[in-house]
Parts: sequence; structure tokens; C-alpha cells
Amino acid sequence: MKAEIIAVGTEILLGQITNTNATFLSEELAGMGFEVYHHSVVGDNGGRLAELLQVADQRSDLVVLCGGLGPTTDDLTKDVVAEFVGEQLVEDALGLEKLQAFFTQAKRQMTPNNLRQILVFEHGQALPNDTGLASGIFYQKPQGTAYLLLPGPPSELKPMFLHHAKALLAKAMPQKEQLLSRVLRFYGIGESRLVTELADLIDEQMNPTIAPYAKPNEVTVRLTVKCKEKVVGIALLDQTEEAIMNRVGEYFYGYGEETSLEEVVVDLLKEQGKTITAAESLTAGQFQSVLGNVSGVSEVFPGGFVTYSAETKAHFLGIDPALLEEFGTVSQECAEAMALSARNQAQTDFALSFTGVAGPDALEGQPAGTVWIALAQEDKVESCLYHFTRDRAYVRHSAVMAGLDLLRRALLAKKIDS
Ligand code: ATP
Ligand code: MG
Repeated sequence: MKAEIIAVGTEILLGQITNTNATFLSEELAGMGFEVYHHSVVGDNGGRLAELLQVADQRSDLVVLCGGLGPTTDDLTKDVVAEFVGEQLVEDALGLEKLQAFFTQAKRQMTPNNLRQILVFEHGQALPNDTGLASGIFYQKPQGTAYLLLPGPPSELKPMFLHHAKALLAKAMPQKEQLLSRVLRFYGIGESRLVTELADLIDEQMNPTIAPYAKPNEVTVRLTVKCKEKVVGIALLDQTEEAIMNRVGEYFYGYGEETSLEEVVVDLLKEQGKTITAAESLTAGQFQSVLGNVSGVSEVFPGGFVTYSAETKAHFLGIDPALLEEFGTVSQECAEAMALSARNQAQTDFALSFTGVAGPDALEGQPAGTVWIALAQEDKVESCLYHFTRDRAYVRHSAVMAGLDLLRRALLAKKIDS
């Protein structure tokens, strides 16, 4: 069945907010098997919304509207859709109860315009708003197009869709096929190389489809399968994933759009009961800051060192100035000494060190992007030399990602050993 999404709000047209509701709804609807053919945005203007409804009603089985359900006079979505489908607006009893309770609790007088947000269609279904006050509406014309009206704030729209509208839609408008997708995350392989490795798979594969997407320092591959039954879809995804892993599995680090390399690493550390510290020169704490993105990281990360100058390297890490004199700051020797000392001082299982040239200028005769990263662990210290490109921010980010990946590989090797 065909669906379309209409976002109502002048703010969106003016570029003040991004239409993230459309992204969310499209993905959800596609997942349920709807074919989403149109997205539109219209300002808070009754005439133009009514015009758009004329078109939408003709071409779609389901029209989802978001925004403009609030109490103010520019919130006109309900009025316009009600008039278009020939429905009366009535008060939603549950919504009214909640609204009154809200004002009683807040010890505030309710102004009459607040009642506007709990109006619903006489012959439609009211959708409760778990995180706000405006009630939503689902209404299906007899043998005709269905309308779903959702509030604008994403914090209200998402729960209303997921906990109330979705089940109603699935029942009222069952779909023959659904879409399932799976996201694979890769580090250490560029998009062009990955696409080359998978070229024939990408060309031949229709179900699931394979869509690579490059992000800074990593590549994501989204597999999407269309299926009548979920088990069949999952089996097809498994098959395609296996074919991909046979070629580039070495670079795979995790599943899901939201998964990050730092999360994967922190999970591995927790799983193995290991700890990590770091001594950072060119990244100046960025590695430790990224670790701090992961909740519960304190279990595996006691703290670490930011040693930018030769003096702080000597003071905090005890790096012999003679070593820096002989080999330079951007050297394997310096990186390894930093990692070993950090591990000793922090009493952790692992220590990473970062030293290099963030740029744009060269340092000690080494070009921008030259970075040494060392990893110290119980029985050894190893180090890698990198030549990152692009600007200063990118070099530092690349170094952090490379450090995370070194640690991830070391943890995986330990897992295989044990
Ligand atoms: P309210 O009761 O808050 O007035 P509403 O249902 O009337 O809710 P709008 O007034 O249209 O919704 O929008 C309220 C807020 O919701 C906007 O200021 C914006 O922050 C967010 N919002 C609205 N539409 C969208 C959208 N399409 N994508 C993302 N955010 C949106
Ligand atoms: Mg509003």
C-alpha cells in the first residue's frame, strides 16, 4: 500500500528545524511494508494544507501528518483534515482527564485554548500522548484513504507512533510484505576498496539489496530484504552477510546504525575484565574523551595522561629527555616508552599512546599526518606507524579510531587465545 508523509510547520519551510519526523516515519513505514512515495512540507496555512490533502487523498492509501496538533491558533492540522474528510471534532475523554490533571498538578489555571489539543474525530480513534498533551488521531474513510495525525515534537511523535499507532496500522492495513534491514560496520577499509571487493555481489544482489555508505573513517553497509515472513527474511540476510564477511570480514567491527567503535571496545574490555589507560600527545585527550562517550566506562578506564610537551612527558610519564633528543617525539621509541610508562603508572592491563604530527605544519622534519600509536599489555608493547591525510581535525580523529581498532584487535586475539 502507498503511504505519504506531510509535515506541517512553517519552521521547517524556513529551515529552522530539520524534518527528522519524516526520516523516522519513513523508515518505520517502510519496515512495515508500506511503499512511501511522497514527503511534503507545508507551512501553518489552512488553504495550502487543504490543497495538498486533495492530491494526497487521490494517490495514497495512508496519509501521515505530523505537527500542528497543539493548542495555539496556528495549530490547524486537525481542523483542516476534519473538514476535508467531513468529520466533527469532539473531546477525547482520556486526553481531557490527563490535561486537567496536568493543570491541577502544576497549580495553574487552564486557558480554554488548551482544549483544542485534545480534540479528535468523532468517528476516528484517539491516540494517547504518553509524553505530552495533544492527542493523536487515526481515521480511515469508509473504503478510502486512512489518515494518521501525530504531534510535531519528536519526543511525542515517536512514542505515539511506536506504542499506539503502529499496532493500529498493522491491524487496519495489513501489508503483504515487510522490509527488514541489517547494518554492518567496517573500520580500516575505504569505501572504494570495499565496493570493489563486493562489486559483483552489489550488482547481482536484488533481495537483500546491499548499500554501502561512507562515514568519516569508516564504512557502513546496509542490507535490506523484502519478505513475507520474518524468518525467511532473516535467513536471506544471514546468507548475504556471510558472503560479505568472506571477503571483508577482517574489517568488520559491529552491527547497527548506532553502534560505535568505542562501544564495541568498552564492551570487550568489560567482558574480559580488563582495563585501559592512555598517554596522549597529538590527540590531547581526545581518545579518553571518546571513551567517556560510553556509559559505564569507569569500570574499565581509571583515567590517563595528556602529555603534550617534552616537559610533561618527562614529568608525568618519566620519559627521559635524552630519548626524545635521540629519536624525537614522533618516534616509535617515544610512543612505546609513553605506553609502557602509562600502563605502569595507572596499573591497567592495556595502555595506548599517541604521538604524531597533527598539522598543518611539519614537526621534527616529519610531515603532517605522521602518527605513532603504541599498545602496551602484560607481556609486550607493539607500535604502528600511520600516515593520515587531510586536515588537523581529521588526523586527530583518525588517530583515535586507529587506537581503538588496535585495542579491539588485541582484545579479540585474547578472546581467541582463551
Ligand atoms: P505543540 O503542542 O508543541 O505545539 P504540535 O503538534 O503543534 O506540538 P508543532 O507546533 O508543529 O507541533 O511543532 C512543535 C515542535 O515540534 C517544533 O518546534 C519542533 O521542535 C518539533 N517539530 C515539528 N515538526 C517537526 C518535524 N517534522 N521534524 C522534527 N521536529 C519537528
Ligand atoms: Mg504547535
